[in-house]
Amino acid sequence: MKILVTGGAGYIGSHMVKTLGEKGHDIVVYDNISTGHKDSVLYGRLVIADLADIGALDRLFREESFDAVLHFAAHIVVDESVENPIKYYKNNFSNALNLIEACVRHNVDKFIFSSTAAVYGIPEKDSVSEDTPMLPINPYGASKLMVEQALKDISRSSALRYVSLRYFNVAGADPLSRIGQKYMDATHLITVSLRAALGLRDQLNIFGTDYDTPDGTCIRDYIHVDDLIDAHMLALDYLSSGGGSRVFNCGYGHGYSVREVVDKVKEVTGRDFKAIETGRREGDPPSLVADSSRIKKELGWRPSHDDLEYIIRTAWEWEKKLFNAQGSQT
Ligand code: UDP
Repeated sequence: MKILVTGGAGYIGSHMVKTLGEKGHDIVVYDNISTGHKDSVLYGRLVIADLADIGALDRLFREESFDAVLHFAAHIVVDESVENPIKYYKNNFSNALNLIEACVRHNVDKFIFSSTAAVYGIPEKDSVSEDTPMLPINPYGASKLMVEQALKDISRSSALRYVSLRYFNVAGADPLSRIGQKYMDATHLITVSLRAALGLRDQLNIFGTDYDTPDGTCIRDYIHVDDLIDAHMLALDYLSSGGGSRVFNCGYGHGYSVREVVDKVKEVTGRDFKAIETGRREGDPPSLVADSSRIKKELGWRPSHDDLEYIIRTAWEWEKKLFNAQGSQT
């Protein structure tokens, strides 16, 4: 198939391109390289352009006849979205709308969207199904929910069919360390912990130890990026065989506390680092775990890497390679 991958130079998008390329698909990556990297694109043709550029999008859609679009390009830092909501509404919502409009105008009828568990806000139940009320508590989650709403409406009035995948906590890297999280200002727990283990940060802050959880720290459902990509491949097969629009959670269905993750990082890396208990970070739900029964049942998703140690090990190998390559003292 001829496939457009937006954000294909970024962390998750580059893993998508890897898998699509290995399966022989014809790929065009559309990325403005604001947080992505050219050398993360292992297959296909890279078009460096912005989704705000409607003219560039239109030209590309006229030149290439895409069978499907996978939309990864987005800003993802929750705190930043609170400080600068316009940036998030522009890029995550308005630019997504430009892309969806290009699909409708050029008769591309298959669309896969990177959504997020942040659409649920602070859910009342620990295990979150797709029918849990969506009450995002920050502009990041709200901007993703707005795209889901737009897709719902647009798919009713056009031939467009979509799958929206709500990611839980994506982590880990390519087992051959060709690609991984390259974002220098990464805020996610596993990346930050590994950078503390490498000595690139003085310490890791544990945000809150007084939650109503077994060890007082927050629980999250960490999913290996390659399992997430498998979910996209299944979604693509599903849409290709005529499936209608669907929304699926992507997580393993069980979680780990911040303390458990930090302990596992220390064990896997064999390095100790300071983990300082600090106050809560605003807007963190105590526990966020996917009920992923729908994607297992409807798409037959069977994760292969449901193993925190594997997730951390692949990320660790990647981080070591990344920072050695950049000349740090590791
Ligand atoms: N966390 C932490 N210290 C950090 C980064 C994250 O204690 O430096 C905690 C955070 O409060 C949350 C969990 O780790 O409870 C996962 O946070 P992350 O930012 O990785 O993902 P999120 O669940 O916010 O999408």
